[in-house]
Amino acid sequence: MQISQTQIEQVNKQIDALVSAGSFYGKKLAEAGVSHIATPEDFENLPFSEKADLREAYPLGLMTAPEDQIVRIHSSSGTTGLPVIIPYTAKDVDDWGIMFKRCYEFAGITPMDRIQITPGYGLWTAGIGFQYGAEKLGAMVIPMGPGNTEKQLQMMQDMKSTVLCSTSSYALLLAEEIEKRGIGDKIFLKKGVIGSERWGEKMRKRISDILGIELYDIYGLTEIYGPGIGINCKYDTGMHYWDDYLYIEIIDPITLKPVPDGQMGEVVITTLVKEGAPLIRYRTHDLSRIIPGECPCGSKFPRLDTIMGRSDDMIKIKGVNVFPSQIEEILASFPEVSSEYQIRISHLDGKDTMRLYVETSGHYDFLDLAKRIAVEVKSKIGFTPLVKVVEIGLLPRSEKKTKRVIDERYE
Ligand code: ZN
Repeated sequence: MQISQTQIEQVNKQIDALVSAGSFYGKKLAEAGVSHIATPEDFENLPFSEKADLREAYPLGLMTAPEDQIVRIHSSSGTTGLPVIIPYTAKDVDDWGIMFKRCYEFAGITPMDRIQITPGYGLWTAGIGFQYGAEKLGAMVIPMGPGNTEKQLQMMQDMKSTVLCSTSSYALLLAEEIEKRGIGDKIFLKKGVIGSERWGEKMRKRISDILGIELYDIYGLTEIYGPGIGINCKYDTGMHYWDDYLYIEIIDPITLKPVPDGQMGEVVITTLVKEGAPLIRYRTHDLSRIIPGECPCGSKFPRLDTIMGRSDDMIKIKGVNVFPSQIEEILASFPEVSSEYQIRISHLDGKDTMRLYVETSGHYDFLDLAKRIAVEVKSKIGFTPLVKVVEIGLLPRSEKKTKRVIDERYE
């Protein structure tokens, strides 16, 4: 999806603000000798922003508007090192609310709905974002915040909540608790709006089966407003995102060049009208693709596919980018194999080779199974791996995170 002329003008305004605030990005631009862009090619030559840049700006180095206009800060969790602090102006807060209201509308949620919000409040962007969007819509908010399942279920019944906002894991926990207690007939939920971490189809189906609700994936990150910058509609063909507020491009995480629509890569986001902390070409490290064409719902808002994982997990082999999640998805379609697998990449006789180890019980013809998996990988990803089928239990198990990809080319 090429950047439009209107978006280019918006980016220029963001650049002006960043330069006059003397932020890290202003310095990057000065180094690159850029102060203005005129064409999509110019845009593609702009430097990227990284999470590390944002951390270095701690505490308030990202502040791009005058302090009397800053009304709030949010922060992303600092699991490694310093957290990132994002300042918001009143307009930023309002814009975020408008985007979030749109998300609810795309999910068919109305002012007659009662929205139970379970994500956390505070420095984190989640709870308050869900709340402000719901208030803008005119729905009734039940602002629970996380945890306290007993009280969640009580309020859900007494308030007759119709919408559950939560993470996928908490939605599953609540669903299983409702099933266990046999209180399904006292629950009035119709829809779930679920944060967009990668979650499998199996989990999704289990939640919607128990609760009998429609599920919507919401996308967002603290650095770019927070959740609410995109959501799937009822046709469930990817998440519509708001290109009047953001420009999204997909890049090859190795060459850093934009890839055509439809191709998988890393999501890079540029804010178009942000005041408190504009970001140009921010590398999210989320993997997805832009879905070409128009959605059956008729909306002109472009679509981003479900997040497939993180670019840090990507392997490049024979010129093709491969993600462990793609292999996992293919293996999930073979009921004969276990959940365990191992990918080994090596460089033999001048070419890259992928060996894929999978496990099965003794009831299947190993050679035949290996051949069928190889054919499936070739058709879905584009190259043929050497598939080795082994007995169940032969692949290493781990109590922590199992290492599934071993790249011997760099060892
Ligand atoms: Zn749609």
